[in-house]
Amino acid sequence: MTTKVTRDQVFFAFQPELTPVAHVQQGEEVIMETHDCFEGQLKTSADLLDSLDWDHINPASGPVYIEGTKPGDVLRVDLLKMDVANQSIMVTLPGEGALGDQITEMETVVLKLDGDTVVYKDKVRVPKKPMIGVIGVAPASGSVPNGTPGAHGGNMDCTLVTAGASLYFTVGVEGALFGAGDFHAAMGDGEVVICGAETPGEFRFKAQVVDTLKGLPTPFLRNENLVAAIFSAPTLDEAASGATHAMACFLTEFVGLSVNDAGMLMSLAGELKFCQIVDPEKTVRFEFPVAVLEQLGFRMD
Ligand code: CA
Ligand code: CA
Repeated sequence: MTTKVTRDQVFFAFQPELTPVAHVQQGEEVIMETHDCFEGQLKTSADLLDSLDWDHINPASGPVYIEGTKPGDVLRVDLLKMDVANQSIMVTLPGEGALGDQITEMETVVLKLDGDTVVYKDKVRVPKKPMIGVIGVAPASGSVPNGTPGAHGGNMDCTLVTAGASLYFTVGVEGALFGAGDFHAAMGDGEVVICGAETPGEFRFKAQVVDTLKGLPTPFLRNENLVAAIFSAPTLDEAASGATHAMACFLTEFVGLSVNDAGMLMSLAGELKFCQIVDPEKTVRFEFPVAVLEQLGFRMD
């Protein structure tokens, strides 16, 4: 029987002291249900942010204890399937986000799914692109609220985190203590007003340690077309520098390029992109094409 984590099994900060809600073997498939980032508190356009219980923001489901994982291991989490609910929520809050200086009114908008589109105010349709905002493992020490991204993952809000992608995390504590939440039916890079189309959902994953990638700068991601180094820092400048150096580290230490070749190929074919610019730490990713890695004879485990 497949292990299932339900959306009432939540935590609000990644930390070593969390109690696992399930123990699974490496490679075993797990189904995880998630709340939206408001834990379902906003249901209609009349539910404004000032009615929120802020102690119930950004729940992540889990954590799941992955047997046989120990600190320093690189854990690959394969996102096999992902579904989002038919309704999602967007909000504005004066003072918050990249336009907080201009936004003067709280507003809650309910968006509906229609086939492969998300419908905004009954007239604008954008492509449905489900993605996971909060995903990660417990850090080796300390406690990171789920609203904050970091080296452990967390609230990275990276639009690449979706079905078909694999994410790599460096394990901080025995069992890894993996969790996820904050699904979006769609979200633009930057997440400028502090939200995407916030929705409950469900996903299926499996996780295993990859010995050949020990020392990989994480969080790291791969999908069919690209690999990406993800980096969070207090400023966008630091995050951009961190993501760039993490990709250069991958290309030199794991792919075997010289610094000059790595740098020139990154400058030629790489893409530096914002994940989000509104959280307590900002997140940037450096993308690099799998097609180039293949020409270099490298295949990612
Ligand atoms: Ca988020
Ligand atoms: Ca969100």
